Amino acid sequence: MQIPVLNPHYAYALNHYRRIHTKVVHIGDIPVGGDNPIRIQSMTTTDTLDTQGTIDQTLRMVDAGCEYVRITAPSIKEAENLKLIRDGLHKVGCKVPLIADIHFTPNAAEVAARIVEKVRINPGNYADKKKFETIEYTDASYQSELDRIYNRFSPLVKICKENGTALRIGANHGSLSDRILSRYGDTPNGMVESALEFIRICEDHNFDQLVVSMKSSNTQVMVQAYRLLMSRMLETGRIYPLHLGVTEAGEGEDGRIKSAIGIGSLLADGIGDTIRVSLTEAPESEAPVAKYIVDHFTGKSSYTEPEAETLTQVVGNPYAFSRRSTSQVYSIGGEELPRVISTLNPPPLVEEDLKPVGLSFDRINDKWNMSELGCDFLFLGNHPCPFMLPNGTRAIYNYTTWNLLKDQQHSYPLFTYPEAAQNPNRHAELNFLVLTQETIEEWHHHPLQGPWCLVLAPQNLQAIYTVRTWIHTLSGQGKGHWPLILQLSVTPYEQHDLTSEAQYQLTAASQAGALLLDGLLDGIWLDGPAHEANRTAFGLLQAARLRMTRTEYISCPSCGRTLFDLMETTAMIRSRTEHLKGVKIGIMGCIVNGPGEMADADYGYVGAGPGIISLYRGQEMVEKAIKTEFAVDKLIDLIRNDGRWLEPAS
Ligand code: SF4
Repeated sequence: MQIPVLNPHYAYALNHYRRIHTKVVHIGDIPVGGDNPIRIQSMTTTDTLDTQGTIDQTLRMVDAGCEYVRITAPSIKEAENLKLIRDGLHKVGCKVPLIADIHFTPNAAEVAARIVEKVRINPGNYADKKKFETIEYTDASYQSELDRIYNRFSPLVKICKENGTALRIGANHGSLSDRILSRYGDTPNGMVESALEFIRICEDHNFDQLVVSMKSSNTQVMVQAYRLLMSRMLETGRIYPLHLGVTEAGEGEDGRIKSAIGIGSLLADGIGDTIRVSLTEAPESEAPVAKYIVDHFTGKSSYTEPEAETLTQVVGNPYAFSRRSTSQVYSIGGEELPRVISTLNPPPLVEEDLKPVGLSFDRINDKWNMSELGCDFLFLGNHPCPFMLPNGTRAIYNYTTWNLLKDQQHSYPLFTYPEAAQNPNRHAELNFLVLTQETIEEWHHHPLQGPWCLVLAPQNLQAIYTVRTWIHTLSGQGKGHWPLILQLSVTPYEQHDLTSEAQYQLTAASQAGALLLDGLLDGIWLDGPAHEANRTAFGLLQAARLRMTRTEYISCPSCGRTLFDLMETTAMIRSRTEHLKGVKIGIMGCIVNGPGEMADADYGYVGAGPGIISLYRGQEMVEKAIKTEFAVDKLIDLIRNDGRWLEPAS
């Protein structure tokens, strides 16, 4: 079996944390890039014309840990009001650098660039109106479009240069211009090209105070786009700081896990100089999450300790998702969905004890109700289960206990390497073999015969790096065809402004994210409290788009453009649709930017005006001017008419 091995051109090392050195960009008194710390930022949700409200929220965000604060400037009026906001902040001694967020309004950008420390533009809509059209361009007509953009964008670059204002070129997967889509498609490469067109104009004006971002709500696309951009910058030697973020990540647990998977995977590659975690929650709640993810790689752990030898060869293609090719062993590996193994400790005595791992028993009707979060395998150690597990769930026991079972048919053994080497007895279908730092070498030199699923248990905080090294060695030795399960020892550290549940989720996602997004795993097994571990494991697979077990909400974090209460509306839509496994619903606060931002949602609920909603199927508007009070029912009708509605279980 041929395993493609590419030299990465996007990272310095794959088996230890080594941050890529970028240009230093000055944003007020807080520079980004180079050796500066990874900066934390967020965005206000107030109306920009509400000067005092925006000042108050900015102060709360700074208190929570934001080092930059972004404020939307949808028109010249709001851009001008940034001066009052800035002056009000200075009056109370707050010099936090402000960033104006611009979509579609170059005139507002040119005003804001004279007031604030940085302007963010979206190359997909700075000088283009999106019509969702595919146009055939000749080289000449494409060049004339570039000339038009050059003329439209150059005045802003000159103003930034004159005023010492930094610029973020912030490409979003969902809002690529029709021109880019026509030539490069809706791809990571299209996102990179979209930014490079604008970067080249800046460079033509000798302006290098740039920060670049490549956001998407799809963690796979996002990670691939940033890597691709970094590889292009490393080629040219002009390496601008990168702002990382998963856009429209959603709320609560889903948003945190998605952000930690996307941002954490890139930080692990040494990519990223400033981050924004984008949650459908109060903006003050974003900074602690961002800080936790950054600390995971740069602070509290030992990620900075290099391994003896730097690993520079990646298994698979870092710029396009593919699952590592493995043989199927029973229901693991091959084309099977990634599996979840959960542990129950203490072991179950009655059927009801299985609830924390997603398996509910209805004693009145004497039947199991399988939720989408029912684990695939249940590890019971040395405690034989006193009742029959639900059909579809299999038990795993330590080898010595399994060996004594009378009925071994639906139970599988977990071997240590010495046990496997000394005992020829195997299950005919599936055997688990746990490999640790101490035993992986033995397996490398003396692999054993049998239908194995390898359980990689790195037992340290550096799971990403350790497991990458192991898989690289396995693949290089032609022993890479066994399915692999990551057994992760989740060791959160305490951060007082996050719940212990959030700390657990963020740690697990930061440790496992890159391995999942690189398609290296066939399953996951988290330690920790059963309910948390089981739920988080499914959350990780969903956030990496590997196994959909719930509805996905692509909800914007809201900003000064928002036309309804995002948190309340998201909660209401969730309460009625959360049983629609695999359906992706976009909930966007405004029609200016929303439809583009919810790139790969199946359905969209978009604020079109005060009290007015438009509904989308994909990127197509299917119903407009719906009064808010009827909009959720209409959304459900739309899903029903498409044959994708299911009645919720009573
Ligand atoms: S989609 Fe949401 S966050 Fe984006 S501009 Fe509109 S209201 Fe603001």
